[in-house]
Amino acid sequence: MSKKEYTFITEFTLVFLVLALLPSLYFLKAESRVSEQVEQNVKQQTQSQIAFSQRALTGNYEAFSQTFNRLAHNGFVHNALQTPSSNTLKMVEDVWLLAIRNQSLYTNIRLLDEDGNELVGINNHNGYSIVVAQTQLENQSHTTFFQNAQQIKPGDSSLHALKADDSPTTNNRGPLLQVITPIDFMLERKGYVLVNLQFSHLLESAMFDQQGATRPHVVADDGLNLFIHQPNTTEPNAGLNPLSIRSPLLWQTMQQKAMGMVYEHGFWTMFHQVKLDQFSPDITLYLYESVGANDLAPLIKSEVSDLKIQATGIYTLIFMMSLGFVVWHAHHEKNSLDSRIARATMNGISAVIITDRANRIVSINDEFTKLSGFSLQEVKGRRPYMFAASKYPQELYIQIWKTLKRRGLWQGEVVNVKKDGSLLTQIMRIQSVKDSNDTVQFYVSSFVDISERKELELRLRDLSEKDTLCNLWNRRKFDTQLDDHCQRVKRYPEKETTCLALFDVDNFKNVNDEFGHDEGDKTLLYIAQMLSKHSRKADFAARIGGEEFALMMPYTDLETACRVVDRIRCVIQDNYVRETTVSVGVTQLCVSSAHSYKRADQALYHSKQNGRNKVTSIENDTHLVTEQSQILSA
Ligand code: GH3
Ligand code: MG
Ligand code: MG
Repeated sequence: MSKKEYTFITEFTLVFLVLALLPSLYFLKAESRVSEQVEQNVKQQTQSQIAFSQRALTGNYEAFSQTFNRLAHNGFVHNALQTPSSNTLKMVEDVWLLAIRNQSLYTNIRLLDEDGNELVGINNHNGYSIVVAQTQLENQSHTTFFQNAQQIKPGDSSLHALKADDSPTTNNRGPLLQVITPIDFMLERKGYVLVNLQFSHLLESAMFDQQGATRPHVVADDGLNLFIHQPNTTEPNAGLNPLSIRSPLLWQTMQQKAMGMVYEHGFWTMFHQVKLDQFSPDITLYLYESVGANDLAPLIKSEVSDLKIQATGIYTLIFMMSLGFVVWHAHHEKNSLDSRIARATMNGISAVIITDRANRIVSINDEFTKLSGFSLQEVKGRRPYMFAASKYPQELYIQIWKTLKRRGLWQGEVVNVKKDGSLLTQIMRIQSVKDSNDTVQFYVSSFVDISERKELELRLRDLSEKDTLCNLWNRRKFDTQLDDHCQRVKRYPEKETTCLALFDVDNFKNVNDEFGHDEGDKTLLYIAQMLSKHSRKADFAARIGGEEFALMMPYTDLETACRVVDRIRCVIQDNYVRETTVSVGVTQLCVSSAHSYKRADQALYHSKQNGRNKVTSIENDTHLVTEQSQILSA
């Protein structure tokens, strides 16, 4: 793994951990509170369910009592009791049949005379109503319930009571509710209306809940189980034992409070008292529901899985955010590094000019100002050509732009002009800066001043090519120049006419001997000055030996050359403090530098041979040296 990748991963992990810290604490806390929360919610839900059932039961019983009163106290019942005849009784039968048909709540309804004899009877089973035959009608006077009803004074409330269902027709579907009301005329008892109800049916319809939520159990105030829906096998002592045995604490609390909650046998039980007081005596019931750990487990599990889904969502978000941040940061760091590098470049030792795509200056650095003397205000918006020394041909600029376009980079040596007019020799590097669409946005030119180096170079070259005593070119330079000229002769034989003259001081040994070496040097310097002074600019003068000089004369024929050389000979002879003469050999250059030199040397030899202070020329090839030698003057 590279260092960059390592940094990236470490940074990402850190950011992720920091961002995930708070949500993690939240989720840990939420998870630890899930059981508590769920328990709380379930308790509340159960309590409101019980409260709902309580209201529903009271409401249903109220509705029933109204219906019952309408069934008992109406004109048909009164007629039948006042003048009992098959007709009047039939009328009651028909009305009741109509009223209780399809109502499975009613088990049976009876019309009794004041002695307890049944006059009309209708049995109801699963919504089917059957009229009890005359022969099967009974007398109720022996029942306690009837006897109690006989005690009701006119104007007092009717009776109701709960009792176990012992009727063979109802399949023992739980407790029965009996209601009896006396029918009196003019304070005289005429009879009774008695109904038996399937109490569990009343409870069930009251406790029906659309969402099918748990329905409470119902227990009577004597501990009788009235309605135990699907006995929970995990519930301790579940079954039909009285509540006082199954849950004594609950039972005890119920006796004291109308509503409440009890924790017993690992279950929370919520209860609510219901009073049915439409008839007398009041019937007190209790609705209760238990919540155990087993009921909570699936809810807790579902809550926890909800939390997990939430956590997954949040952590994914944090993951994406961390990744986004780290990528952005890496990019930003690179950019700031780039800008730091750019700043470092601008503050570096190189002079820098930045131009826009139209090559107009937008920025320069301090080094450039220091070097050139121009401030940014003076150059902004102008083109860098303003710095160029005028000696450059147009072709160079064309070449620079071509290279820049092709390679995005040009490098070379240029000479620029400073603000004070002096020249600067520089190595310049121009680089184009492109945007992401590959379009040039800027050009960055950096310069390194090499003026001093250049000067040194020139000095060294001078030293290696110049003669220090006379400040003329030396032998080495002479040799290369001779070669160059001969090459040109070879190339352009028709056009190139260059002559070479070799000078040798006559009897120079004597000068040294007589006046000393220093005087000898002065003589040599004088001769050199005369050579330079009396030759043309295009001519090339060199000291090629101790007291030997050479003069190369381009574009000069032999005759002219001889005249020039002879004039110099005369000047040297005439103007020095003591008589100094030179002998000269002149020749026209041929294609070979060796031959050319040899011919000039032979001509010189001739001058010496012929008495010195003379100019001898050899016109043509070496073979002709002796024959063609010519003495021009003495
Ligand atoms: P000739 O007419 O035949 O040329 O006679 P010459 O005396 O000039 O003889 P030659 O050319 O052989 O002598 C060259 C002398 O020049 C020898 C040497 O002492 C002297 N010489 C060479 N180089 C220098 C120099 O740099 N300074 C001085 N003062 N004398 C030099
Ligand atoms: Mg000599
Ligand atoms: Mg000499």
